[in-house]
Amino acid sequence: MAEAITDCFASRLLRWYAQHGRHDLPWQQPRSLYRCWVSEIMLQQTQVATVIPYFDNFMRAFPDIGSLARASQDEVMRHWAGLGYYSRARNLHRAAQMIVERHDGRFPEDYDNVLALPGIGPSTAGAILAQVLGQRHAILDGNVKRVLARYHMVEGWPGQSAVHKQLWQLAETHTPLEQVADYTQAIMDLGATLCTRSRPACDACPVHTDCRAFHAGSVAAFPGKKPKKALPVRQTRLLLIRNPQGEYLLEKRPPSGIWGGLWSLPELAMEQPVVDSVRQNWQLKVSHYSDRPAFRHTFSHFHLDITPCLVACTSDTVSAQTVVDDSDRFQWHGDLSTLGLAAPVSKVLKLHG
Ligand code: SF4
Repeated sequence: MAEAITDCFASRLLRWYAQHGRHDLPWQQPRSLYRCWVSEIMLQQTQVATVIPYFDNFMRAFPDIGSLARASQDEVMRHWAGLGYYSRARNLHRAAQMIVERHDGRFPEDYDNVLALPGIGPSTAGAILAQVLGQRHAILDGNVKRVLARYHMVEGWPGQSAVHKQLWQLAETHTPLEQVADYTQAIMDLGATLCTRSRPACDACPVHTDCRAFHAGSVAAFPGKKPKKALPVRQTRLLLIRNPQGEYLLEKRPPSGIWGGLWSLPELAMEQPVVDSVRQNWQLKVSHYSDRPAFRHTFSHFHLDITPCLVACTSDTVSAQTVVDDSDRFQWHGDLSTLGLAAPVSKVLKLHG
């Protein structure tokens, strides 16, 4: 019985995919392990339409694993700036260097070796090897979770481990023995184009005849929602400190944490006095400053209310690229076009720079 259903689900999906699936995404032609890997990482938290220009741009800058491994972290971050979830870019860069060191620059073809690379979990490893090499591995990205939770009416939020485990088992059961590459793309496409988060097109769906949530009229209830928690609100000032040469003082953020590895404007807690803090922190004399209207930037786990603060300083000892402290963390920059900047920082510079 189980096998008949499995055949049925996969074969209907494959027939639908042949006719309606997406066959011309940039990472599908030409298809390679490297291109598929980069696309899978970009697609982890981001929609296809947003990813496409970033992917094309990234491939022009880093056409192969070697060029990505040799690039500086700044270059990689600059090509990622705006996509968000920056740990993905840092992991991609580190993984490229590991592939050069451990695998002679060739993307591994063995599941365990792929899984050992930073930033690659079981679903991503499976997706890469299934799509490019046709190896039989199940995948369980957000789209697949949604399809399977609805099709089988799996109760609960997929972030809970018991629910996640149940979905994995179903994903493995449905993965066919043949045509795995097409099936993998098909189930992702079904989730992205028909079985969408809101207003799914069930009437056009190839598996609606036995989709349990569809028949129960309760599609909107699946997958179960994450238990709600109000996001905390934090506040900060972003300082646009400008020297008489018209350069801005920028801070290279530490590798982990928000905006990790990107350039940012220096932050100052709202309760800190601006003039004294700028003098103490960077030995700069402020001629005048003014706060501008705050705006909200929302991260997955908190809201950040950002107040841009324009600070003019009078110092005759500074010049381009002057290192303001010993660690290289703070630097003056006049040309910001080549730097990887956090998205809210770009916004502040565009509005007030
Ligand atoms: S019938 Fe509707 S809910 Fe069920 S899998 Fe298809 S699109 Fe999703």
